[in-house]
Amino acid sequence: MDAGAVTFPRRATRQIHVGGVAVGGDAPISVQSMTTTKTADVEGTLQQIYALAAAGCDIVRCTCNEVEAAEGLARIVPRSPIPIVADIHHQYRMALAALDAGVHGLRLNPGNIRKPEHIKAVATAARDRGVPIRIGVNGGSLDPALYERHGGRVTPEAMVESAMQELAYFDEVGFDAVKISVKASNVPLMIEAYRQLSEVTDHPLHLGVTEAGPLPEGLIKATAGIATLLAEGIGDTIRYSLTADPVEEARAGRALLESFGLRERTNVDLIACPSCGRAEIDVIAVASEARDALADEQLPLQVAVMGCVVNGPGEARDADLGIAAGRRRGHLFVKGQNVAVVPEDEMVPTLVEWARFIAEHGTDAALARVDTEVARREAEKDRAELLEIQGEDANDSEQRVELISQRFD
Ligand code: SF4
Repeated sequence: MDAGAVTFPRRATRQIHVGGVAVGGDAPISVQSMTTTKTADVEGTLQQIYALAAAGCDIVRCTCNEVEAAEGLARIVPRSPIPIVADIHHQYRMALAALDAGVHGLRLNPGNIRKPEHIKAVATAARDRGVPIRIGVNGGSLDPALYERHGGRVTPEAMVESAMQELAYFDEVGFDAVKISVKASNVPLMIEAYRQLSEVTDHPLHLGVTEAGPLPEGLIKATAGIATLLAEGIGDTIRYSLTADPVEEARAGRALLESFGLRERTNVDLIACPSCGRAEIDVIAVASEARDALADEQLPLQVAVMGCVVNGPGEARDADLGIAAGRRRGHLFVKGQNVAVVPEDEMVPTLVEWARFIAEHGTDAALARVDTEVARREAEKDRAELLEIQGEDANDSEQRVELISQRFD
């Protein structure tokens, strides 16, 4: 089966623009993150923004919690390579100041700015400047009145109602450049809130599991929520909220979208075998060495690190290229075909060199530049030797099965 043919149909949404980035409709699902610096620290914030953009972040959010932050935004926006969204919580005047600073979008928390006249003042100013707003409902900071009305609990219904209430205020002033999020740190709650929201509005949706936490648990929680919804066709832009360097958020967002086939691959997809009794190298060490060496190369390839030449090239035959360990040497293969044999300590540098070549010239050119027959024969030699030493059952599975059956004799 052609795995590339499997897709998840996306729910139809209207489209808005955050600076030059389209969100919703048929626009690619975008990746967002948030800076962790003080926004008043212009150089520090810009440094983080450049790193985020390089890691595949499409839109970045900066807090605008004080006048100095708004002033910082005025200096950051013109130098940012990606659109800037100002995060506003309690003071509606900060939203107006952020608009003065020239930001490309605002995020308002309806639980924190509750006076209708303040909400409408911000929406009117955003409308006049053509700047979109995200209605960012957060399960942890729901409007107390809604909380009470829904039985003193945060429910999907209460979160959706909060978003729709804010949308109604925006409607009153003729403002509709809106995307919406209903985040919660509880994954099932967040999933259900987005499902319900997608039934009642066609505004683009921004997905996230709020306060997901540190790695790796945070990554798993966020993925559980975001991926479930994406597979249902829900979601137009995503953010991983991790207690980690924001670059990790951008990387995670890109990796998720690429794994779903929702974004073109821009960087290496490193796959590696889990290792087993057959492994001739420390697969974990070599895989992480390869990942580090390829991290900044921006090569849109799938690269495999496999522990043995007995099964590695076959198991990873779909990878663009890979390396499998033989007897103290590495066998390089391109689309499952052996192309070169290198000493063990040259495995990773050779992998990088071939990856660069394939990214530039393609796999056919790579296969044409060597005599694959020589490499195949060498791989076959190591394979036979390993089978001879380890036997067909390198993991001693049959011996263990025998032991178990003896217990019950
Ligand atoms: S058989 Fe070889 S390639 Fe497969 S998991 Fe074991 S070491 Fe890795």
